[in-house]
Amino acid sequence: MPSPPSTLAVFAHPDDESFSCGGTLARLAAEGAEVSLICATSGEVGEISDAALATPENLGEVRREELRAAALLLGAREPYFMGYRDSGMAGTPANQDPRSLVRTPVDVVGGKVLEFIRRLKPQLVITFDAGGVYGHPDHIAIHQATTWALQVLARDADARLPSLYYTALPRGHLQRMMKEARQRGIPPPQGSGINLETLGTPDELVTTVVEVGAYVDAKLGAIRSHRTQINPNNPLLRLPEDLVRRFLEKEHFTLAPQGAPLDCLAQLP
Ligand SMILES: [Zn+2]
Repeated sequence: MPSPPSTLAVFAHPDDESFSCGGTLARLAAEGAEVSLICATSGEVGEISDAALATPENLGEVRREELRAAALLLGAREPYFMGYRDSGMAGTPANQDPRSLVRTPVDVVGGKVLEFIRRLKPQLVITFDAGGVYGHPDHIAIHQATTWALQVLARDADARLPSLYYTALPRGHLQRMMKEARQRGIPPPQGSGINLETLGTPDELVTTVVEVGAYVDAKLGAIRSHRTQINPNNPLLRLPEDLVRRFLEKEHFTLAPQGAPLDCLAQLP
């Protein structure tokens, strides 16, 4: 039986890893893969779900601890922080901060990602897709930087090129779950400013589905570790458990052309 691929997940904020692919990371780690995490920012301009947990001044520090706790639950190694500042949602003043991820040139961030790839030599790299799930500027920036790093690595004939995957939330899967929730009398989440009709990846772009039914609890535990980010209105907390499980038991990815063509997630033992 082939051993599962050593994995590097590259994301923008503490919690991105758990929401987008926590089940897959937990499964890879449980099957013996080395799983490493890079987090570009400390999420310091994120929301604070409960004023007892953090202040705007110490939110970054609190969120770094939350990511360490989530990593432990997922079976990943101690996360690396790149030290950029959270750029905030699109159109907010935090976008203008010169220390923000979004204001840092792609080759600078990508160069750091490349250093990690050369050092850790993962067989598989995971990051956000080009739309950053819902268009968060930092999600898009880390997608671009990671893709840039793989493009540069591909020019090095001696380097072993990892497979690159983008996380995907297939629109069809999302719509089916929302329809079922509506049928049970649960209204769609309100007030996020996200258009739920256009949210998600077009189904035809998904190349790879990973079964993570046995890791839903690990994923939910990791998500809950990000206590400052768990709004009581989070749909994952409001939906009936069977629906949450069905929504989370598969994770979806797009195999990116910039990495090695081997679809190692589809070939998990
Ligand atoms: Zn994020």
